[in-house]
Amino acid sequence: MQTLRASKCGLSTSQLSPAILDIIDSLTKAGYDAYIVGGGVRDLMLGEHPKDFDAVTNATPAQIKQVFGRRCRIIGRRFELAHVHSGREMIEVATFRAPPKKAVTSASGMILRDNNWGTIEQDFARRDFTINSMYYQPRDGIVLDFCNAYSDIQQKKLKLLGDARQRFEEDPVRMLRTLRFAAKLGFQIDQSILKVFDEACAQQLREVSPHRLYDESQKMFSMGRLEQLLPLLIKFHIWRQMFADVKPEITTFMQRAAFNTDQRIQIGKSINPAFFYAVLLWEAYLERADFYRSRGVVEAEARAQAGIDVLKRQASRTIIPRFAETFIREVWEMQSRLIRPKPQHIMNLAGHAKFRAGFDFLLLREQSGDTGTQGMGEWWEQFQELSNDQKEKAIASYKRNFNRQHKKTTADEPEEFVPLVLETEVNRRAARRAKQRNGASSAPQAEQSANNTTQNGSRNSSNSANDRRSNDFGTNQNSHPITRRRRVQRDLSQVVFGPTQ
Ligand code: ATP
Ligand code: MG
Repeated sequence: MQTLRASKCGLSTSQLSPAILDIIDSLTKAGYDAYIVGGGVRDLMLGEHPKDFDAVTNATPAQIKQVFGRRCRIIGRRFELAHVHSGREMIEVATFRAPPKKAVTSASGMILRDNNWGTIEQDFARRDFTINSMYYQPRDGIVLDFCNAYSDIQQKKLKLLGDARQRFEEDPVRMLRTLRFAAKLGFQIDQSILKVFDEACAQQLREVSPHRLYDESQKMFSMGRLEQLLPLLIKFHIWRQMFADVKPEITTFMQRAAFNTDQRIQIGKSINPAFFYAVLLWEAYLERADFYRSRGVVEAEARAQAGIDVLKRQASRTIIPRFAETFIREVWEMQSRLIRPKPQHIMNLAGHAKFRAGFDFLLLREQSGDTGTQGMGEWWEQFQELSNDQKEKAIASYKRNFNRQHKKTTADEPEEFVPLVLETEVNRRAARRAKQRNGASSAPQAEQSANNTTQNGSRNSSNSANDRRSNDFGTNQNSHPITRRRRVQRDLSQVVFGPTQ
């Protein structure tokens, strides 16, 4: 172990936030050892702006709680940690960890429970990369370096502590961290890692919970080097483990979206990781929608069902939270509305909460050479720049075109005769149950009611229209109601985009 002078490594207390200093000082005053550790120290040494600081101490979580009282909350099961609030910041404070006493590991060696407190040396050995294992005591002005980590920082080398194969087995997420740090810092991955990081190794990610993988995917999408990371995910066989139905190739659309995301982060703008999921899963969504169309499912239902299917399949890899799923489906749903808006809906669309995301997505598609947008990305881009008078004129001119085209398409393919054949398992089961309950005579009604609750298992905003339709056709049970669909004038401000809301 060597003790480095912090100032010689380019560190000074002026780079630290008042919150992390408060936490180090309070723990020290209470008689405990306390250090800044991990990414914060690494990034400061690299002259980067750390995204946060993590603290580590020899106080147990209960003792940390005693020091900070109501400002402290103990979280986690696998890793018990303290979250301490100071001002508007929250700092994660961990206790030095020893190797687990009893092997609480899965069959393949993955550590499942891990709350065995230890010494700083033991804590060091448990960390992932050499560059993440330096302990900085800002008041003493020293850095404890147990493995020549500072030299790895200078040489831009990414090395795991210990045996790479075993460290990946213990926690397969370290594979994702390897690629994330390699892309983020531009470091060279050490030969000892490259030797073991093959397809079989990557498959160990199947053992990791989809919730944890989603968290990691969020960190990947929002670290500002997504463009560099994407090829690594393919090269190291991680792509297939993370994204269920996405072909391992980087399309122009993905490339552009990654570039845009990184740029936004670099200029300090916020990003929504769900937007990049919408981009990644877009092709899979289109293919699925085509599948339903080819089976005669009407357009809106085909799209809704495709969205549900694709996200459901993706949940086997990363569980995207419900609100983010809704966002993704709304962005997808917005596409057809923005490409073929009814003239009378244009102003409402432009003011819709999801307009911005849907428009950004559309423009990115167009800029990536997707002709399916029919130039509407540029149209909307210009439209937003116009004064109110000019907007009215633009809508009038759009309307003339729209009416001409609409006449043509309705003459070509009359919309009202498109059949709805949405035979999902949910429908079939509901219809079967109703049949058993009421006898064969009422089955058509049951099938109809199942149709009303389909697509996402809940009644959605179009149900009132469905109900009306079923009443209209209640007298003639033999004709399928949807095949005689009526056009219903709807107030767009009441329309909710995306089928889940
Ligand atoms: P950043 O916050 O910039 O993503 P970081 O290195 O600070 O990078 P965190 O996830 O905040 O990453 O973790 C803090 C520290 O905890 C790491 O630097 C590392 O020492 C340790 N650590 C985190 N995850 C693991 C892991 N899976 N295995 C071993 N050590 C880990
Ligand atoms: Mg960190």
